[in-house]
Amino acid sequence: MKDRILIGDLNKHIDQEVTICGWTDTRRDQGKMVFFEFRDRTGKVQGVTLPNSPAMEVAKTLRSEWVVAVTGKVNKRPERNIQADKVNGDIELEVLGVEVLNEAETPVFDITADTKDVGEDVRLKYKYLDMRSARVQNNIRMRAKVAKHIRDFLTNEGFIEVETPLLTKSTPEGARDFVVPARLYPGNFYALPQSPQQYKQLLMTGGIERYFQVAKCLRDEDSRGDRQPEFTQIDMEMSFVEQGDIMDVNERALIDIVEKFYPEKKIQEKPFPRITYKEAMEKYGNDRPDLRTDKNDPNLLAFCWIIDFPFFEATAKSDNPDTMGEWTFTHNPFSAPKPEHMGMLMNKESIEEILTTQYDIALNGYEIGGGSIRNHKPEALKKVFEIMGYDMETVERNFGHMLKAFSLGTPPHGGIAWGFDRLMMLLQNEPNIREVIPFPKTGEGKDPMMDSPAPIAQKQLDELSILLKKKAEK
Ligand code: ASP
Repeated sequence: MKDRILIGDLNKHIDQEVTICGWTDTRRDQGKMVFFEFRDRTGKVQGVTLPNSPAMEVAKTLRSEWVVAVTGKVNKRPERNIQADKVNGDIELEVLGVEVLNEAETPVFDITADTKDVGEDVRLKYKYLDMRSARVQNNIRMRAKVAKHIRDFLTNEGFIEVETPLLTKSTPEGARDFVVPARLYPGNFYALPQSPQQYKQLLMTGGIERYFQVAKCLRDEDSRGDRQPEFTQIDMEMSFVEQGDIMDVNERALIDIVEKFYPEKKIQEKPFPRITYKEAMEKYGNDRPDLRTDKNDPNLLAFCWIIDFPFFEATAKSDNPDTMGEWTFTHNPFSAPKPEHMGMLMNKESIEEILTTQYDIALNGYEIGGGSIRNHKPEALKKVFEIMGYDMETVERNFGHMLKAFSLGTPPHGGIAWGFDRLMMLLQNEPNIREVIPFPKTGEGKDPMMDSPAPIAQKQLDELSILLKKKAEK
């Protein structure tokens, strides 16, 4: 709006008449005078309507969360009223005119306080209100800052950001695919990507050499703890690298983020310790150990790398839906074995002893990322699928394009993806990833705001040539 001054800039306009736009955060009617807090994206300011103000009549009508344009004079507060620890604690806006831009019903919960104790279903139904509260607003802003920083950091390192398709074909990442019916090809389906894994490898074949993407990944998993059907990865892939090169860029990126945006936090150990899977399991009983020396300190960050994972596990022990034979991959079927174990892979010997080049990164007991050096030779990738019990026809049908690409000059390459939501959860000291996702679903995969998933019209079903077995319950 014309001539709008941001609340965060008001202290540059002392003794001037200005117009701010925003929300009525709180209101205190003292009869002769009415006090407000007004709020915009840059902060809050106290407004005071003096007895002789021409705006008194309309000021009396304002309620919480009404959207207003307020004209007033920026006054220095008297010495005794200064709140030094607060933004704009030394000024107030003497309200001279108010234009109501939109009225608001009484909010369903108090957003001027921390909303963390409000029932989550209500917060998700009114996520746009929840988002106005200071903590949630800050989470979203910090998320944007960190993402922008990663983009800049990787760009400086010679990476380019490339978007990869959402309508694709199944990529095995150990979860179930979400599928989209293809109207033009009845009976055929696109799969939504569990990750951009295959595309990013094909970008290496394409000579991109250094790729990254802030990528949406979609996995149809049963609600298990703190998971979301869609989540964000900071995904990258590099050509002509070894394990150490990828770990190095990522370690520097993470340290840089912490130092720049979270100076109050301390990284326990640099360079990040590297622990083998075997050692992690023996010593800590899991492969994402919490190495913090003081677990009560919210500002202590203990990063570590886990390496030397077994490549395969017996299917009997696995809940991986991509299983066919006796063995399945533990992390990623596209990974290369450790160079010294390539012979075992090619000869299909001592399968349980083959270790992969996979590396995971853990932070304070959470896995926040993982990746590997890939098999860039077609014979090696074929062997992986053979060990997994896939017949060659299935391999050709599902991964023929990868094998072809690998036979057309694919450089050695590897990559990694960070679970961006988890990283932000930990950096923002939040208890779950829903707090750092702008529009999360419930733990059961529902969106109470849009009320999805939802039935679709019969006409849409007909167009898609879909006949439902059972009529969906309303
Ligand atoms: N695509 C893998 C994942 O989503 C990450 C990687 O190997 O780069 O876990």
